Amino acid sequence: MRHFPVFRDLRGRRVVVSGAGETAVAKLRLLLKTEAAIAVYGTDPHPQIVRWADEARLRHIPRCIDDGDTLCAALVYGANDDAVEDARAARIGHAAGALVNIVDNLADSDFITPALVDRDPVTVAIGTEGAAPVLARRIKAETEERLAPSLGILARIGQGFREAANALPHGRIRRRFWSRYYDEIGPRALAEEGEKGVGAALAALLADMLIEGREAGHVDLIGAGPGDPELLTLKARKALHEADVVIHDRLVSPGILELARREAIVIEVGKMPNGPSWKQSDIDALIVAHARQGAHVARLKSGDPVVFGRLDEEMDALDAAHIPFTIIPGITAASAAAASIGVSWTRRGRNASFRLLTGHDVAGFAEQDWRGLAQPDQAAAIYMGVRAARFLAGRLLMHGAAADTPVTAIENVSRADQKIVATTLARLPDALAEAGITGPAILFLGLSPRQAMEASDTLDLPATGVL
Ligand code: SAH
Repeated sequence: MRHFPVFRDLRGRRVVVSGAGETAVAKLRLLLKTEAAIAVYGTDPHPQIVRWADEARLRHIPRCIDDGDTLCAALVYGANDDAVEDARAARIGHAAGALVNIVDNLADSDFITPALVDRDPVTVAIGTEGAAPVLARRIKAETEERLAPSLGILARIGQGFREAANALPHGRIRRRFWSRYYDEIGPRALAEEGEKGVGAALAALLADMLIEGREAGHVDLIGAGPGDPELLTLKARKALHEADVVIHDRLVSPGILELARREAIVIEVGKMPNGPSWKQSDIDALIVAHARQGAHVARLKSGDPVVFGRLDEEMDALDAAHIPFTIIPGITAASAAAASIGVSWTRRGRNASFRLLTGHDVAGFAEQDWRGLAQPDQAAAIYMGVRAARFLAGRLLMHGAAADTPVTAIENVSRADQKIVATTLARLPDALAEAGITGPAILFLGLSPRQAMEASDTLDLPATGVL
């Protein structure tokens, strides 16, 4: 980021515009939204500038800018459409210590004017460092659409109510108060009763929420999906954004954690396959402790919390502490993995059932219904299976599975470093080792990547791999 966005207070400050033509008019339309003391220098002024000068909204001096004209100026604009004259204005501005902007000349400007969406006192500034004006215009148009014209009025009324609202406990309740005001109560009162009705509606809402504020916290048990933030549900996004405390697994990606509010407390409770780990009972206690303090806790689990997520233990702990919770489902790794290789979990005539297995449980490598799984029409997703691969392949072969049963491993599903290894049951342990699969991976037993996807995908076929 070369340009750091700030909002500069221009009340009563001097702003000098060099140039009085069309280009100056465009800048002045923005500058006149402020309470700056604006001086425009230039001969042959645009009629609009003459009009503004007549209305005393700015001062027009009918000559070119000169030394001393920018004294005490906060900002100086070069809007002459003339490189030589703009450079002269910049020199004069810099001599007086002002920040200078040359219109449409990023290289010679100290600052740039962003695209604006104006719902004063709410202002959205959009900048692309000059890289993509088209994008800036599109974002502006979309933002204009999203922010109701009444937002400014509501924000102004809300501003006057801030002190009263501080009677609400800090955190979730206070945020909910403002969300409800801006999302429903405020717009409705404004539409039905005008500005006068809004104050009364705010007071009534505050009274309601003061009662609610005495209640305890809440926990959302959230499925964060396989890693790509775009695979989060809208509900998960919302809950994450509202959370005071975020407690997350190791596999939850940084891009998702960025969606938490800046003030939120973020705690990783990682469980390493062989390294140091949080004990489940300590995680349960941590969630309960934060919720007891009235916090809105987002418990983020990778994939879907209902799949190999130790969800029940956390629900039991919350029930025991009488803390309300909500489960927000997510996209489980095996579902996203199937999408990555273009296959279905089930397919008419191929397999009418599909199993989710774990390669590992509390007791070590997990025993399964090997005889059933070894049948030719079986398909399964194996979680936590990489370290158990030799054991899995051995057990299945021993129970009669065909050596050439397809197995596909998908590591880091939906992330930039996703890797796909298509192999067979007999080759599985070696193929995983050769491909260097060490991260979280799904092993699909009985499923191979869709042929049409092979060419385009990052398929990493082991030397002797067979599909
Ligand atoms: N609740 C999670 C599973 C947690 S168990 C879910 O629904 O996906 C942890 C295992 O999930 C890992 O060992 C791995 O097998 C799988 N896993 C989680 N995230 C993954 C990812 N991005 N890519 C591949 N496998 C993943």
